Amino acid sequence: MNSYLADKNGYYGEFGGAYIPEILHKCVTELQNTYLGVIESEEFKKEFDQLLQDYVGRPSPLYLANRLSAKYGCKIYLKREDLNHTGAHKINNTIGQILLARKMGKTRIIAETGAGQHGVATATVCALMDMECVVYMGKTDVQRQHVNVQKMKMLGAEVRPVTSGNMTLKDATNEAIRDWCCNPADTFYIIGSTVGPHPYPDMVARLQSVISAEIKKQLMVKEGRDYPDYLIACVGGGSNSAGTIYHYLDDERVKIVLAEAGGLGVTSGQSAATIQLGRVGILHGSKSLVMQSEDGQIEEPYSISAGLDYPGIGPMHAHLATTKRATILAVDDDEALQAAFELTKLEGIIPALESAHALGALSKVDFKSTDVVVLNLSGRGDKDMDTYIKVMSLEL
Ligand SMILES: *Cc1c(COP(=O)(O)O)cnc(C)c1O
Repeated sequence: MNSYLADKNGYYGEFGGAYIPEILHKCVTELQNTYLGVIESEEFKKEFDQLLQDYVGRPSPLYLANRLSAKYGCKIYLKREDLNHTGAHKINNTIGQILLARKMGKTRIIAETGAGQHGVATATVCALMDMECVVYMGKTDVQRQHVNVQKMKMLGAEVRPVTSGNMTLKDATNEAIRDWCCNPADTFYIIGSTVGPHPYPDMVARLQSVISAEIKKQLMVKEGRDYPDYLIACVGGGSNSAGTIYHYLDDERVKIVLAEAGGLGVTSGQSAATIQLGRVGILHGSKSLVMQSEDGQIEEPYSISAGLDYPGIGPMHAHLATTKRATILAVDDDEALQAAFELTKLEGIIPALESAHALGALSKVDFKSTDVVVLNLSGRGDKDMDTYIKVMSLEL
């Protein structure tokens, strides 16, 4: 029915699918045939909801940001995913996937990570469920994200530095897929965003859809209607935005604004604005928009925010952009930084640099005074203090 959701083969329009090596065929097919039955079962829902409530701290508040609203001349609510255990929305997904892994009899978990947030969220649920955990992380990122590496180790995970390519997220993902090919029987690969072969984009979107399910209930109480005029979220691979918009995809009253990372400027050659710069291609098992050279080599993305620094984008979002269901805005490094300092001063909330890109989109939209806006604050800024400190020292 819903043309913005995946069809049974994992396609969103022309995007999606499962482009995988022969050796993974059996375990990806097994996952495709299993995931819906499990995550829609009463047994799964009960345990998932309980953990989201008691372990993650859900529902996350929907906070009316009065001073921010006054500044932009509309009514802005912040969906506080920054208050979740481990500091971001990523834990919603890792809890869901590890419950599925356990149900499928898997004993070993692998994951890729860039900034380390997904790695920490995965290591956390592996500690919780007493599972072996291996996290692949580019060597460059290991050096840049020291504290998250230490957290993963403290949680009992093995962090494997990846030295191929640019030694960042794309290379870590390649290495995780390689591991999966060698260990398809006992290993479950927990992917951190709405990317990868079908069923991952659909599965991750469903697990994150708790965000929009809560927004509906919370808006009903606060506004007497269960939909906003605008939903705003940042996009790296697309999971926090997918969760934010999931239950509103077919509701044309709701405008969707997605903020991707402009880096030093979309045309600067130092950008991660994948939707605007990408062309149709296949990356990590899925057909989507990919930043690539004339001859199809993946181009290195750049953003000040490590969580938005990915050369691909989820197939759902590629489809939302090409059908114009969503408006895509690029927010540059300096605009995101400014927005982060603004939120901190106006509301006393230090946002993650990724979420600051969503905040940076506020000044680019022409709001009416009656507009109700829900902006997903995907994570907190603790992990980004080094960057913020550097900016402050330049300004002194
Ligand atoms: C990882 C991350 C993102 C980007 O990933 P999506 O899958 O696009 O949500 C955004 N915000 C925070 C806080 C993150 O940790």
